[in-house]
Amino acid sequence: MVDGVGRIPGFVNSYTYREGDETLLIDTGFSRKAGPIVRAFRNAGVPLVSVGKVLLTHHHPDHMGGAAYLLEASGAPLACHADDAPFVNGQITPPMPLLMRLFVRTRAAPVAIPLKDGDRLGPLQVLHTPGHTPGEVVFYHPTRKILFSGDAVVERKGRLTLPAPNFAANLDQAVQSVARLRELEVEVLLPGHGAPVTKNVSSLLQDFVQRASARGIGGGR
Ligand SMILES: [Zn+2]
Ligand SMILES: [Zn+2]
Repeated sequence: MVDGVGRIPGFVNSYTYREGDETLLIDTGFSRKAGPIVRAFRNAGVPLVSVGKVLLTHHHPDHMGGAAYLLEASGAPLACHADDAPFVNGQITPPMPLLMRLFVRTRAAPVAIPLKDGDRLGPLQVLHTPGHTPGEVVFYHPTRKILFSGDAVVERKGRLTLPAPNFAANLDQAVQSVARLRELEVEVLLPGHGAPVTKNVSSLLQDFVQRASARGIGGGR
């Protein structure tokens, strides 16, 4: 797809990014045993211990479900934003509808690298894009113009949008975060859900923000 990028599709996309001698894994899927990721590495003949760091875009179970297993299997440290870390390491139980709690039982995972806006992880820059969760982040490669957008903005039917609004901690803030992403030069957007976007990313971001403001979302705090 894109040099150095591996996509492991599923309900959630996980990605690998390799540059130089470091491989980063971005998001870990629903499965507590990280089935799709383990299989993808096995099929590629790449050992999990080659993962240098595991990065989470945010704390939701579909993104952090496999984290604990993968940390054990790879020995890699886990990075996520400091505001989402308490949900990942089990200090706080995330608010979740009761029915969902019956199905989703995540394993807490220790966060070794709490992130903040502006941090660097190898070639990737951390941008804090709160709204979907308090500590949602995107990972941006400024020279290659690649954006791993997590659930800050996702793809659906060729458009950019937010995940279902009832999963958003703060919808206005989520839209404001997307508005901020318009300032980046992005050639490849790799979302947590949906298909990678390799054309017209900035006009699609613009289009999203316009649609949201037409519906009165994203104006105030
Ligand atoms: Zn999410
Ligand atoms: Zn998600």
